[in-house]
Amino acid sequence: MNNPVSDVDVLVVGAGVVGSAIACRLSEFDAKVAVIDRRHDIADETSKSNSGITASGWTLPAGSLEAQLVCASSPRWEDVCRRLGVPFRRCGTVAIARTQEDAERIPELVRNAEANGVKARALSAEDVVAAAPHANPDSAGGVEVPVEGVIDSIRLTIGYGELAATNGVRFHFSAPLLDAIASGDEVVEVRTPGAVLRPRFVVNAAGLGADTVSRSLGCEDFEIIARRGEWLLLDREFGRRVPRILTMMPTERTHGIMVIPTAHGTCLLGPTAEDLDNKHDRSTSADVLAGVLRECRTLMPGIDERYVIKSFSGLRPHSERTYRIERSAVMRNVIQVAGIRSTGVSGSLGIADYVLGLLQEAGFDRPPKASFTASLDAPLPFSDTLDCELAAASPLGRTVVCACEKVTAADIHRALSSPLPARSIAGIAKRTHATWGRCQGSACLSGVSFIASLYLGGEAWELPFGEPGSTLGVGRARHV
Ligand SMILES: Cc1cc2nc3c(=O)[nH]c(=O)nc-3n(C[C@H](O)[C@H](O)[C@H](O)COP(=O)(O)OP(=O)(O)OC[C@H]3O[C@@H](n4cnc5c(N)ncnc54)[C@H](O)[C@@H]3O)c2cc1C
Repeated sequence: MNNPVSDVDVLVVGAGVVGSAIACRLSEFDAKVAVIDRRHDIADETSKSNSGITASGWTLPAGSLEAQLVCASSPRWEDVCRRLGVPFRRCGTVAIARTQEDAERIPELVRNAEANGVKARALSAEDVVAAAPHANPDSAGGVEVPVEGVIDSIRLTIGYGELAATNGVRFHFSAPLLDAIASGDEVVEVRTPGAVLRPRFVVNAAGLGADTVSRSLGCEDFEIIARRGEWLLLDREFGRRVPRILTMMPTERTHGIMVIPTAHGTCLLGPTAEDLDNKHDRSTSADVLAGVLRECRTLMPGIDERYVIKSFSGLRPHSERTYRIERSAVMRNVIQVAGIRSTGVSGSLGIADYVLGLLQEAGFDRPPKASFTASLDAPLPFSDTLDCELAAASPLGRTVVCACEKVTAADIHRALSSPLPARSIAGIAKRTHATWGRCQGSACLSGVSFIASLYLGGEAWELPFGEPGSTLGVGRARHV
């Protein structure tokens, strides 16, 4: 059977935070926009496992494109998170000098922050304790950056996608880019297993896959490698003791290990930074995580590992050139958005504006939409408001399904019926955090699967856990 053919103004490859932010920005225009992704759901690669910091740009090379786009995004989080229903807190960062040598770098780091227009304050050892009472009192000083914050980066990505979908953008999941056809120096056709798209412009925002996608489009040859970061997640009980982000003195290569309060009140320790040959290796190792714990205790003594509920890892799309955001020199209707390694969440708003500018320079000339919806009807989940009166107003709101993360049946209903609904247990977890709490789903998985089966059809144990085909792995023991 022939696949359906669609003409589109812009085809975005990749539904991570970067591709989704771009699609969301483009949805403000009277244009046909489509997004394809190889995964079954939005935010299913790097954008689902990161530290969730909205960086201010204080450590980035002054004047670099990355610094410009991160700094342009930084003041906008309150507005965007309100419109998209995304948990966010501007908690501030305190970088700690652990040695005299670290302390000597404080003035240079403060100057760099100022050059990027970010307010940063040099701290003495006493100031560190006042600015961050949970920090190690035996420091050699530090730097305070009050504007940094923490965000639910998965919810942000989904929010961008939902707003884009609400405004008419078409998302195709389980749709890897297979190949493309060019005419002269333009890509004219892109194929996925289920569709043929004829785009005027293509945006390559494929994260770890951006090098392969670039080659498939007949564009530049560059390499993306996976830089793995491993973390430990500690529960809310511990998270309450972590009001601000604590970090080591950043280096050119990495921010180093951090103690990070999450937007949901838990706490992350990490991440590490290790270059891999394998772009799919999301394993963790006990030795590495023991090292993370050791390093974090130099920032915050007394971290008790009994609060650890989970370890996990994420893969940064590292490339020799970071923030390769430009019109392809080979295929003139392709915009490359590759190598967004460490600040894709923080820079997403600025990146989307910048890509729109590149598209307009390349000839994208669609007018703004007459009727653009600027906000989602997406209340914060119950766990973020703990507004019992509001929750109790509906029968689903009165039913707590996941006790650890305080997820109600109303939250799960929303996850399964939103403009880009969850289609798997992992999809529900990403949208609500159900099964991600201290019990890691032992208590709530059956309830979550049962509700999901009412929306998705089939038996609860046959539902996909993540990608289609990965079921919960249980079935009928005996037919009665
Ligand atoms: C350890 C770690 C910590 C981090 N901490 C932070 C932080 O605190 N703050 C911050 O701002 N950033 C942080 N980042 C970086 C941030 O997560 C990334 O910059 C961002 O997620 C990149 O988004 P993306 O959309 O480019 O990539 P992705 O989220 O990976 O999206 C790319 C999408 O392209 C799809 N794709 C790939 N190939 C194809 C293909 N052939 N066809 C169709 N689709 C395809 C993929 O399925 C994927 O969904 C961190 C990253 C890691 C790993």
